[in-house]
Amino acid sequence: MKENATTVPRVNIYVEKLKSNVCLMIEMCKKYNIEIMAVTKGVGAIKEIVDIFEECGVNILADSRLINLAKMTDRKQTKVLLRLPMISYANDAVELADISLNSEIATVRALNDSAIKQNKIHKIILMIELGDLREGVLPYDVNVFVSEVISMSNIKLVGVGTNLTCYGGVVPDESKLKTLADIATEIENTFSIKLDIISGGNSSTLKLLVENKKIDSRINNLRIGEGILLGTETSYGKQMEGFYNDAFILETEIIEVKEKNSLPDGVRSINSFGETTEIKDVGVHTRAIIALGRQDVNHLGLSPLDNGITILGASGDHTILDITKSKNKYKVGDTLSFNLNYSSLFGAMISTYINKRYIK
Ligand SMILES: *Cc1c(COP(=O)(O)O)cnc(C)c1O
Repeated sequence: MKENATTVPRVNIYVEKLKSNVCLMIEMCKKYNIEIMAVTKGVGAIKEIVDIFEECGVNILADSRLINLAKMTDRKQTKVLLRLPMISYANDAVELADISLNSEIATVRALNDSAIKQNKIHKIILMIELGDLREGVLPYDVNVFVSEVISMSNIKLVGVGTNLTCYGGVVPDESKLKTLADIATEIENTFSIKLDIISGGNSSTLKLLVENKKIDSRINNLRIGEGILLGTETSYGKQMEGFYNDAFILETEIIEVKEKNSLPDGVRSINSFGETTEIKDVGVHTRAIIALGRQDVNHLGLSPLDNGITILGASGDHTILDITKSKNKYKVGDTLSFNLNYSSLFGAMISTYINKRYIK
């Protein structure tokens, strides 16, 4: 069977567009004295893409998965574990990450034990819960937490951070970021320490930068994945001016084109995923099936580049399209292209079913 980077399905990666996004992001954040942690999980920390980050001068690489950090051990950049460490993986976290984000004292104790064994100082950023209700210590629990952490021999508290717009959809604004900065200052004053990193969130915080909002001058770090990969701020999911949203394009081949009824014929129950779907009757229309399914990628995050095409649904190996309104006369063997949202990009980049083709 033929198998090379040009076989479909594949993700085309437009190297210059991606490079432009990363470089522009670094520049944009620098104006606010903000350094970015370039988040690699959206592309499974693939070597070729991390190389691009490196070329643009990224100093900090961050990922939520140890398995991805393990792919980057030879790199000179600081490595950050974004997801709270699993306590049973404390050893690996200390081995693979220079810094981890934390909110549980039991885990930090385990990290300290591992760091003692490995004769290392492990740095941590304390995550503060500011209302989105994902990870973080509640503000009034901060002092108890910090007082124990600073007594640990091999843990160094280097900063505080927050995560917003992830679970609750709470957007970062000037007041949330000021609260974070104030907590940092209070920790410094109470414990006579200096915090170097005040991490004001993820790509959702970019919205404030794009709009030239005044944000607390102590905020000096953002953890950015989607913003550099897809050029979107994630508070409202808007494309940012000057950034490319098409550095990654998914392509695959048409395997069937037919005129069929839009309405299924027969007694209907659930589909192969246990879902009951509502199907609109638009009469007979032109349908195409492409060689791509849920086993490859989340079809809900795909947007056909041909805007005359709509995605009707997908099973494990097939995605079904309505191509009636397209100006193109598609036939079996033609290739179709799709833009990907962040969730589909995640899947496509780590899928072994999908080739990656780097286009200079
Ligand atoms: C994934 C992740 C990020 C990056 O989020 P984007 O929206 O892709 O910028 C930042 N912080 C944490 C803790 C994460 O898990």
